[in-house]
Amino acid sequence: VNGSVDVVRRFECVCCTDSFKPEEVLRAPCQHYYCRTCVTSLVKACTKDESLFPIKCCKKPITATSLRSHLESDDLRDLFSLKIIEYNTPATRRVYCPKTRCSTFMGSLPSSSTREMTCQKCHAQACGICRGTAHVGKDCPQDKGCLEVREMAKRVGWQTCPKCMAVIQRVWGCNSMVCKCGTNFCYGCGATMLVCKGSCAKSAAY
Ligand SMILES: [Zn+2]
Ligand SMILES: [Zn+2]
Ligand SMILES: [Zn+2]
Ligand SMILES: [Zn+2]
Ligand SMILES: [Zn+2]
Ligand SMILES: [Zn+2]
Repeated sequence: VNGSVDVVRRFECVCCTDSFKPEEVLRAPCQHYYCRTCVTSLVKACTKDESLFPIKCCKKPITATSLRSHLESDDLRDLFSLKIIEYNTPATRRVYCPKTRCSTFMGSLPSSSTREMTCQKCHAQACGICRGTAHVGKDCPQDKGCLEVREMAKRVGWQTCPKCMAVIQRVWGCNSMVCKCGTNFCYGCGATMLVCKGSCAKSAAY
């Protein structure tokens, strides 16, 4: 016996109970240890189930930074970072890709200046007001500014196109109107001509 025995401290993972070198484990605030494999499966589960966020041990949250540095894959690290942003955004302000097959989280509802949001994954556009598919070249039906214009238009007797909701003021002529979007509608009742066929009561009044 030469007297200089190297004793390397080993740490036991609370999940799998295997022992690891100090640099291989994450130390939780409660002084419990987790190996990389167990951190990875915890984080994986958390990206699929929001109720597991934030990840805790003994009711004390483990910081995202230490979790991230103990993950086994870069892809999971990126996904986890995105999920943290998503989970920290109030559910009522989360915008998801309108393409149901994609449904990627696109961020928080923007300030009123940005109308359209683009999905980083499939490049689909979402409306930054109603969170649905972007209304290319049209106003959002839920846009407050537009709602006010429409209310005002109704008061003064203007019509809105039943398809694109553009406000239209009739200058002269008959009730059959053609909007700039190509929709032919009745100025009397506001329905498309296919529906009204010029037969509504208001149509006769003009
Ligand atoms: Zn483990
Ligand atoms: Zn613990
Ligand atoms: Zn998408
Ligand atoms: Zn919209
Ligand atoms: Zn129109
Ligand atoms: Zn009509």
